[in-house]
Amino acid sequence: MKILFLDQSGKPGGAELCLIDIAKPYQKNCLVGLFADGSFKDLLEKHDIPVEVLTNQAIQVKKESSLSQGLASMTQLAPLIAKVVKISRNYDLIYANTQKALVVAAIASFFSRRPLVFHLHDILSAEHFSKTNRTISVNLANRASLVIVNSQASKKAFIEAGGKAELVEIVYNGFEPQKYINNRIEINQVRKQLELEDKFIVGHFSRLAPWKGQHILIEALAKCPPEVTVILVGDALFGEQDYVKQLHQQIDSLQLQNRVKFLGFRNDIPLLMAACNLVAHTSTSPEPFGRVIVEAMLSGTPVVAAASGGAVELVESGVNGFLSTPGNPQELTEIIETCLSDKQKTDAIAQKAKDSASQRFHVANINQQIALLLQQLAVNSEQRTANS
Ligand code: UDP
Repeated sequence: MKILFLDQSGKPGGAELCLIDIAKPYQKNCLVGLFADGSFKDLLEKHDIPVEVLTNQAIQVKKESSLSQGLASMTQLAPLIAKVVKISRNYDLIYANTQKALVVAAIASFFSRRPLVFHLHDILSAEHFSKTNRTISVNLANRASLVIVNSQASKKAFIEAGGKAELVEIVYNGFEPQKYINNRIEINQVRKQLELEDKFIVGHFSRLAPWKGQHILIEALAKCPPEVTVILVGDALFGEQDYVKQLHQQIDSLQLQNRVKFLGFRNDIPLLMAACNLVAHTSTSPEPFGRVIVEAMLSGTPVVAAASGGAVELVESGVNGFLSTPGNPQELTEIIETCLSDKQKTDAIAQKAKDSASQRFHVANINQQIALLLQQLAVNSEQRTANS
């Protein structure tokens, strides 16, 4: 089966990292079409996945855009859509991996008569998207032959926004457990390089954005014992520079300059996570899936996650991690202190998490689920063609 994947992003967020794993089995029979140049393209090339940047014009619609802004962008999209229609004739199906990709893919699939698959990585709720964007997204997704969602939480929001339940299949993100094997020497080296050898390191791995809640962790840190330090791993991917400024101001006003390190975007997540004593996920709005939570588990590091959205499907508090109320720094402080004081219990929880996550989220199982869904789709589409 030949697949044309489409993704709007030039930089790799969670949806893009997930796409790498999905596209890999189709390396010889796919193309990933991007709507922006950047480091995601380099990453795909590194994985030998064919990639082409289909436009160098930025698409102006944002998650909170109004109808008029959305319509204005349509004229801008016309050349891109024409290009995708032409390319897609050489493929069996179009697989849209992001919202803007869906807009282009849905129109292109109509003209090129190729089935459309939409992989929804978002929670389509008012907290994340304007009403206009939700309506457009759901109406276009309802034209797809299949909507793959990354959690029950994403499924529920999709249906509540008007999405057709019969199109939806839940497939969690997949991971390669063997990528998460680090040795003690390497881990100690990283801790030394960070000059945090004797500290209790709490790692936060996410782009810097208000809803990812780095400020909650900093507030919690202010009440923790002095050996607790925080590393913030990730960049302001989508123009959240004001938030970065706010974080620095918060750190200055709480006099935590020596206890918080900004490491920027990193490609060595498994090793960095293994070097942490605890990974904190602090999203203040429901997380659609939360790759970082599973990655922490696979690294063998205890994880505390904000109890909302997909995170509650991944973590059972006290069994394979900890859950804390979103936006509640006091509770987070208490969990950090528990992990600091009861190493034996938290290590046992982390080991259990590693064992179960290695099975539950193994990329081979996840890719098999996707392959079966796509095969079924191909069979249905052939039958329809034969009957028409
Ligand atoms: N990530 C990364 N480098 C960084 C920070 C984050 O590679 O410096 C990765 C992280 O390991 C995870 C992804 O970015 O795989 C974020 O996915 P998640 O589902 O947690 O959040 P999203 O970005 O999709 O909202």
